Amino acid sequence: MQIKYLDLQAQYKTIKEDIDTEIHKILDSSAYVLGKSVADFESNYAQYCQTSHCTGVNNGTNALLLALKALDVGPGDEVITAANTFIATISAIVQSGARPVLVDVDPISRNIDPLLLNMAISNKTKVIIPVHLFGRVADMDLIMKIADEHNIKVLEDSCQSHGAKYKGKRAGSFGHAAAFSFYPGKNLGAYGEAGAIVTNDATLDAEVKKLRDHGSAKKYYHDIIGYNARMEGFQGAVLGVKLKHLDRWNAERRRVAKIYNSLLKNVTKPEIHPDYQQVFHLYVIETDKRDALMNHLKDEHGIVSLIHYPIPTHLQKALDYLGYKKGDFPVTEQLADQILSLPIYPEMPDEHVAFVAEKINEFYL
Ligand SMILES: *Cc1c(COP(=O)(O)O)cnc(C)c1O
Repeated sequence: MQIKYLDLQAQYKTIKEDIDTEIHKILDSSAYVLGKSVADFESNYAQYCQTSHCTGVNNGTNALLLALKALDVGPGDEVITAANTFIATISAIVQSGARPVLVDVDPISRNIDPLLLNMAISNKTKVIIPVHLFGRVADMDLIMKIADEHNIKVLEDSCQSHGAKYKGKRAGSFGHAAAFSFYPGKNLGAYGEAGAIVTNDATLDAEVKKLRDHGSAKKYYHDIIGYNARMEGFQGAVLGVKLKHLDRWNAERRRVAKIYNSLLKNVTKPEIHPDYQQVFHLYVIETDKRDALMNHLKDEHGIVSLIHYPIPTHLQKALDYLGYKKGDFPVTEQLADQILSLPIYPEMPDEHVAFVAEKINEFYL
């Protein structure tokens, strides 16, 4: 048996007819960039996220960057985020001209630790970017409280948390703006690169829409120098079809996570907490025999697992200039040594989940 880490083909087969129809509409209309498919998706996705505005862009990193720019972030500013994140969160901060200030995470939630966040705030802090990692919303009650006390804006990195909720509210609806990635493997994935910014602030939304299209709100009138960060019509079409299935797919991910949680022994499993309706973009266990377990699963049983992420952001060569060193963020560093992401996708059969759990349990016998 071969157990894939994820299976995008399995999902395409279930929606092929609708996808093919919508793709052909784009071909027939030649609306390749922005256009109706993108505008329709934007209004549906804003509503889905419990926000009033959405702007479709060409990837999640640029969604973060444009939101930072629209929040007036630039040289001289500091932006705080979690050390335990994908490098893209930090790339966007660096590209905005600001200085990234990293904060360690809580070992249970694996998300930014609000107490440490509080201590990292300076008079240069302009924005906080909580990352809703692995499909679990960060501790937004406390984070918003701290941010409001200091008059700091909050940009949610929701790139791994489409549809996740915290106390009944959707990821993306807490902060001043939120960035999403629709990279193919995300919970809501395009068939190529795509991303979006959601917000309740009409002025911010107008600014983001300008920034994605060379700084123009009216064709050939350029108020500012912007970017070319527009979403493609094909991606709008695909995302429009897939959005209708997202809640069901997320429920299927929770099914897989629950089976793992009930069967696995001898490893640290993700906490399932009633306040957090997680969407398990990743299902991540922790074990001090991580590398041996990973090799065993692959070599003996054909099970593909991955590490998100093996080298913590603050120890990446590109961020040497920030002056961080080993030991600065002990929780993030321990996670990097011990985490393993197990196969998870909505169409994953129960038997495959049970097989993976069984082989992991056998490894510890
Ligand atoms: C995927 C991801 C991004 C970047 O999205 P792209 O579409 O790949 O640019 C940013 N932050 C996090 C946490 C992500 O997982």
